[in-house]
Amino acid sequence: MEQCACVERELEKVLHRFVTYGHQSEERLDELLRNVCELRSRLLAYGVQDADLSVLHQTMAQCCKEIKETVQVLASRHKDIHGSVSKVGKAIDRNFDAEVSAVIAEHVWDTPERQKYLSETIVEHLYRQGMLSVAEDLCQESGVVIDMSMKQPFLELNRILEALRTQDLRPALEWAVTNRQRLLDLNSTLEFKLHRLYFISLLNGGISKQQEALQYARHFQPFASQHQRDIQILMGSLVYLRHGIENSPYRDLLETDQWAEICNIFTRDACALLGLSVESPLSVSFASGCMALPVLMNIKQVIEQRQYNGVWTHKDELPIEIDLGKKCWYHSVFACPILRQQTSESNPPMKLICGHVISRDALNKLTNAGKLKCPYCPMEQNPTDAKQIFF
Ligand SMILES: [Zn+2]
Repeated sequence: MEQCACVERELEKVLHRFVTYGHQSEERLDELLRNVCELRSRLLAYGVQDADLSVLHQTMAQCCKEIKETVQVLASRHKDIHGSVSKVGKAIDRNFDAEVSAVIAEHVWDTPERQKYLSETIVEHLYRQGMLSVAEDLCQESGVVIDMSMKQPFLELNRILEALRTQDLRPALEWAVTNRQRLLDLNSTLEFKLHRLYFISLLNGGISKQQEALQYARHFQPFASQHQRDIQILMGSLVYLRHGIENSPYRDLLETDQWAEICNIFTRDACALLGLSVESPLSVSFASGCMALPVLMNIKQVIEQRQYNGVWTHKDELPIEIDLGKKCWYHSVFACPILRQQTSESNPPMKLICGHVISRDALNKLTNAGKLKCPYCPMEQNPTDAKQIFF
């Protein structure tokens, strides 16, 4: 953060100079303009024929000189700003380590197929964010063709979310009713929460909405057993409608953060229903990269300083474990206890009949004349009895 603050200070200096320069230029130009206008009106008043040519010549020369001077002053001040701008660049270089090439795996994006994956991931991210026109532009420029069936869910999601943000519940309710059974299968409370919020928005309308609220309450019927307590609270609040819910024991019902909450619940449940991750894969990768990069750059430096070259040769494998927090736990990773290598698709973990797990490469190495002795227990067994396991 200290680095950001340092760059920000330099940036503020530039902005300050820029604004001052703008004001000063305007003042000087206004003054110049006034002089020229004055000269013009004087000339018109005299009539050119009557004027003394030498005086006229002098006045014009004086005027030109002033203009030239002003231009020079403004140009030199403009140059000063260049100096401040380049200071910002230097502050960025000084405070941020731009040398990330040492930890980059060179071959990650070197095939057209992988580049296509990257473009598709970015396009998907843009659709998620509702930045449809940017996504379309990227598709055109990168030549990526996105199927309408992939686009459609995002368009619908965004349309409903946008309405929810303006406290319009109808599109979300329509969607929830259409997908009721599938939502219930997911144990989702979305539909009830939407009806509840609709009811609360009617309560907000005061006594004039009492009848409508009572009628709307029939929507709670399918949820009566699961949300009995919530429904009781909602119905109880009707007693205070005449005097205003905001002055009643039910004032909590009017809290505005429920709208942010319903947006989150909708996004979570709709994504689950559509088989999408709640967060954009691009955001998750980017955030993880930001956390991991400084650690990787440090370790790279240490390796180089101590000349442990060759320790980190496989760039698709991390030299150390980096804790990204529980939020980033998606699946377990298994490192073979024999070869001390992370298992992969080509070298998967294998469970021996004694229950111990080693990698397939280790299993092949330890197999001798069709027999395998478990390196842990050490039970002798047939290596073909080992089973691949999936995390
Ligand atoms: Zn064993």
